[in-house]
Amino acid sequence: MTEREYDIVIIGGGPAGLAAGLYAARGMHRTVLLEKGVVGGQISLTELVENYPGVPTVNGFDLAQTMLKQSESYGMETEYVEVTGVEQVGKKWVVHTSEGDFVAKALIVTSGAEYNKLGVPGEERLTGKGVSYCATCDAAFFRDMDVAVVGGGDAAMDEGLFTSRYVSKATVIHRRDELRASRILQDRAFANPKMEFMWNTVVEEVLGEDQVTAVKLRNVVTGETSEMPLSAVFIFIGQHPNSGYLEGLVEMDAGKHVIVDEWMRTGKPGLFAAGDVRQNSARQVATSVGDGVTAAIAADHYITDTFRE
Ligand SMILES: Cc1cc2nc3c(=O)[nH]c(=O)nc-3n(C[C@H](O)[C@H](O)[C@H](O)COP(=O)(O)OP(=O)(O)OC[C@H]3O[C@@H](n4cnc5c(N)ncnc54)[C@H](O)[C@@H]3O)c2cc1C
Repeated sequence: MTEREYDIVIIGGGPAGLAAGLYAARGMHRTVLLEKGVVGGQISLTELVENYPGVPTVNGFDLAQTMLKQSESYGMETEYVEVTGVEQVGKKWVVHTSEGDFVAKALIVTSGAEYNKLGVPGEERLTGKGVSYCATCDAAFFRDMDVAVVGGGDAAMDEGLFTSRYVSKATVIHRRDELRASRILQDRAFANPKMEFMWNTVVEEVLGEDQVTAVKLRNVVTGETSEMPLSAVFIFIGQHPNSGYLEGLVEMDAGKHVIVDEWMRTGKPGLFAAGDVRQNSARQVATSVGDGVTAAIAADHYITDTFRE
């Protein structure tokens, strides 16, 4: 084996990839996990995880670091590189990255998902200057200030509740007249005295020179526009899967999620996909971990069957 030849290459270091790495390495496969950013993926942005079975309450970053240490203790290697493409050469998979190629007998795609942007003027220019996609990272900068939280799902309520610990007021701006979030999160948000709700409203522009100072709003029912002075906008309007580097190679749904069977197998032999990047993921830490485990076991069977000497 050369330096960069592995039994199993895992793309993405979120919960799915870390769980796959644990099972692959502990199953005595030479395994590398390729991560372009921070190990832990989305969960590393979350202050509190309360629904990972067996771990009543834990900081998301800490949970990810514990998973990483556990996987590495069984021999999983970690490389901080960005995967740019994937191709099948004979029975093996070649993974192209920002730092050269990796070769694998089996490839597990766990590259997860990323936040959707509003796509309005001012959003990109003021990102990091009051526009945020991570309340856990940035809410503390806006202590005793007024902020907005855009969205109506679980992430918006979760992050809005976290934001409310610091700010004087968090106004939820939602384009519909009711939330999509789970009942327990809705109840907590409605009961929170620092959270207010603005229904049927969209953000048309984020205003400010060097720092966010206001948002321009439009009521989608009346068409009325207004300006709301504030110091930050936290945006939680869904995610899109990180599957672009697989385009044309595997079957995907309309939302670009990779289609897999119950063993996390794509239509290509030796190529598996697990976690938020796959179609019909429940988008939870526990389900992503389960997917990663399933993919690693399937990859183990595949390698045994295909590369038997
Ligand atoms: C704010 C928030 C709060 C949440 N709270 C909870 C909660 O309390 N409980 C719960 O169960 N779930 C929660 N979730 C959902 C949970 O975090 C996700 O379901 C889970 O992280 C998905 O895991 P994953 O491994 O599939 O993908 P991700 O976590 O998205 O990880 C994918 C990784 O792949 C990397 N990557 C992507 N593309 C490439 C590439 N080309 N090359 C190399 N690396 C790449 C990314 O950098 C990332 O680290 C929350 C999510 C958010 C956003």
